[in-house]
Amino acid sequence: MPDKQNITVLGSTGSIGVSTLDVIARHPERFRVVALTANSQIDKLFQQCQQFEPEYAVLLDADAAESLRQKVLDHGLATQVLHGIEALELVSSLPQVDSVMAAIVGAAGLRPSMAAARAGKRILLANKETLVMSGQIFMDAVRDHGAQLLPIDSEHNAIFQSLPRDFGRGLAQVGVTRILLTASGGPFRTRALAELEQVTPEQACAHPNWSMGRKISVDSASMMNKGLEVIEAHWLFSASAEQIQVVVHPQSVIHSLVEYADGSVLAQLGNPDMRTPIAYALGFPERIQAGVSALDLFKIAHLDFEAPDMVRFRCLGLAYQALRTGGTAPAILNSANEIAVAAFLDGKLPFLAIPSIIEQTLEQLTSVPMRSLEDAQNADAQARLLAAELIARA
Ligand code: NAD
Ligand code: MG
Repeated sequence: MPDKQNITVLGSTGSIGVSTLDVIARHPERFRVVALTANSQIDKLFQQCQQFEPEYAVLLDADAAESLRQKVLDHGLATQVLHGIEALELVSSLPQVDSVMAAIVGAAGLRPSMAAARAGKRILLANKETLVMSGQIFMDAVRDHGAQLLPIDSEHNAIFQSLPRDFGRGLAQVGVTRILLTASGGPFRTRALAELEQVTPEQACAHPNWSMGRKISVDSASMMNKGLEVIEAHWLFSASAEQIQVVVHPQSVIHSLVEYADGSVLAQLGNPDMRTPIAYALGFPERIQAGVSALDLFKIAHLDFEAPDMVRFRCLGLAYQALRTGGTAPAILNSANEIAVAAFLDGKLPFLAIPSIIEQTLEQLTSVPMRSLEDAQNADAQARLLAAELIARA
């Protein structure tokens, strides 16, 4: 057995973070947790510190960090408690860290993911917003600093598994014609448009197949999640918008497919449990136990497919449009979406107004070429301000 893999888990208290620690705990001989981070969830992070005894625990919030520091001292743990965005960047780039699980939600994950790329780490990327906001800058940083990128998003992990290892030469060069990105359709797949006017955050967060954080759950209900994933696939696999076809597949058993020039289509299947892609990336290139039950095809019996309904799910079309526009348009789309989703979760915006806010923000802000991380951050700040104004006026 080689040396242990040293890991930082960003966003360890979230849905992906908890699943990651679940897989890590099954393999104490393979992994050592160097750092755990959260926004402000003191108690959960403290429990995780007791279990994994990391060198560092980071909270974004300074007061929350002070409370955690006290608890850590009281219990005689050796964990150093830090706070703030710089500390998140620090634990993503420490020399003793081999791999970084990037599982913060939203644009907040951008700077730590970028720090991991610049430090040449192996990055297990769950935070799709990093690629949506700054795809070119991030991919350049990965290449220039010799970092390695392993996708955690179940679809992208499935595509990665279904592509040849040398896909970086170009999709056409390796005989790939299309990427078929599956989508469950979310909780509102069969609801009439009129019914969607009244839906509550609880209904939007009740996903039929996956248990996830609230932001991505709303994104799944609006299908913006699939839109963000189209952009994510574009950057990860150098696929054009035309090469990425969304396929609605309600059972969430086929996690995505790759179509080849000879007519072959390769897919990855499995139960809808994020521990599978997480274990794939943690163990890569080896296969390790994930704690996921075997797929029972007899019980599933049927696999269904349908074309996405672009009329009921306007967010998907907006994402394709932002990808085709390029420059800062995807960053604007992402930030306007984050503000609109937060307002919806707060009861301040109807569900169907989410795409309207995003569309207006995209119309009123001009996309400019993306040359640096600052361009992404400026677009983010402008889009947040404008989207909030539009919501206040709505
Ligand atoms: P979550 O809301 O459950 O957890 C988010 C984590 O990030 C928490 O640990 C939280 O404390 C931390 N966090 C939140 N805001 C922060 C901030 N401003 N600064 C620092 N830390 C902050 O979210 P999740 O469902 O685990 O999703 C995480 C990421 O993974 C998202 O980008 C999501 O799109 C992606 N993803 C999730 C799933 C899933 O099944 N949950 C699947 C695919 C991709
Ligand atoms: Mg996904």
